[in-house]
Amino acid sequence: MRQKIPQQPASERRKNFSEVALGFSQEDAEKEAARCLQCKNSPCVKGCPVEIDIPAFIKLIKDSKRKEALEKIKEKNNLPAVCGRVCPQEDQCEVVCVLNKKGIPINIGALERYAADYELSHKTQDTRHRSKTRDVKPETCDIKVAVVGSGPAGLTCAADLAKMGYQVTLFESLHLPGGVLIYGIPEFRLPKQIVHDEVEYIKSLGVDLKTDALIGNTYSLKDLFEEGFKAIFVGVGAGLPQFLGIPGENLDRVYSANEFLTRANLMKAYKFPEYTTPLSLGKKVAVIGGGNVAMDCARVALRLGKDVTLVYRRTENEMPARKEEVQNAKDEGIPFKILTQPVKILGDEKGFVKGLECIQMELGQPDESGRRRPVPIKNSNFVLDVDTVIVAIGQNPNPLLRKVTPGLRTNEDGTIAVDENLMTTLPGVFAGGDITSGAATVISAMGAGKKAVRSIDRYVKGNP
Ligand code: FAD
Repeated sequence: MRQKIPQQPASERRKNFSEVALGFSQEDAEKEAARCLQCKNSPCVKGCPVEIDIPAFIKLIKDSKRKEALEKIKEKNNLPAVCGRVCPQEDQCEVVCVLNKKGIPINIGALERYAADYELSHKTQDTRHRSKTRDVKPETCDIKVAVVGSGPAGLTCAADLAKMGYQVTLFESLHLPGGVLIYGIPEFRLPKQIVHDEVEYIKSLGVDLKTDALIGNTYSLKDLFEEGFKAIFVGVGAGLPQFLGIPGENLDRVYSANEFLTRANLMKAYKFPEYTTPLSLGKKVAVIGGGNVAMDCARVALRLGKDVTLVYRRTENEMPARKEEVQNAKDEGIPFKILTQPVKILGDEKGFVKGLECIQMELGQPDESGRRRPVPIKNSNFVLDVDTVIVAIGQNPNPLLRKVTPGLRTNEDGTIAVDENLMTTLPGVFAGGDITSGAATVISAMGAGKKAVRSIDRYVKGNP
């Protein structure tokens, strides 16, 4: 039997910000690890964008070698406690697990989390790579590389370059590192202490972190080259909110998901007045969207004591959010208003939201994404009784660098154009993560960070 990760009961967790999933006990973890068939061709490894040796670390857990299991994971993944919590394993390593044929794949994510949490709670931090970079003076040790953006792409790139001996400076525009991990994903899915601890590990490898440094403003890419950096990795993410373009979006109490989550997570508005950032909400909140971001917004608003409705224009089947998160939101009692498209946000005389006019939809033929297209049903308009609207329909690439950097080519959708080595149109400037792919996943951003390291290494050694 596949071991399930225990959770806080839905009736309790909907009132607090503590972590929902509680993690495996040693007994559960070893039982789950013992189910692994240790396949020779290891399809799970091929399913992992950073190619962790999954069977090897699982065997170490089975043998009660937790520290060694983590070291095995860290050969490929610098953020195991994060990935164990938020990676969509069901679409990656677990979907190709041989046991998935019987519908009982190994719970790889929970085992990864187990190994990482053991280290974090026992502080048995692996210093192998650190000593490598300090003791051996490789040919790279005098070469400076700049990494811009400290999300999963930038953190991975910085950590792997430091392990190879490069002098890495990581520039982050916010006051805290972590990107979406720190400002977007809520505390109850990814406790911020976990992110801080994993960033500390990366700093311990020798990475010099400079926060409050907005590249493109504080320094340009040209300034960085003039400062002696031989190559630059740009991992600035997709943090520009998308709106619906319907009347009423500038009313008070209409939020983008980004603003809402940044206030709640990064600025800790949920602990007001202990933390001073306000979050003005009414009593009834509509969250528009069906992805992970929409689920996070809805579940944060619920925990703030609001009456929340999730509004989505297709059906639950087409929702892009992780199944687990959809189920969690439903278990917590959030109603889904499906096949519903907002057409206008209604305001009162003071400029505050007083309702959301919607039209009923039905599913038509599949569109280019393969999902059935939602089609409006004529004369089916109705008004949802809400006083706050959060728009969570997607994010676009951050536009600053492309606007201020001559010669940096971007694609039509605003992503930075890169070649097969992740080099941009500017020599020595590489890019990866959401800024090149558009909004995607933590692990794909990490995969891009790793790929860029190989290209940067070749580039600075004159072998592009
Ligand atoms: P980001 O994480 O966006 O990091 C970019 C960093 O660059 C930020 O810290 C930003 O402040 C900084 N920056 C921007 N411009 C500059 C500049 N000019 N100078 C210096 N620094 C700059 N993925 C999953 O796999 N699982 C999930 O459960 C999941 N849930 C999500 C929930 C939410 C609410 C959101 C928004 C996304 C979620 N994702 C999830 C997607 C995932 O978080 C992203 O794909 C991933 O973080 C992208 O990493 P990145 O490093 O490319 O960019």
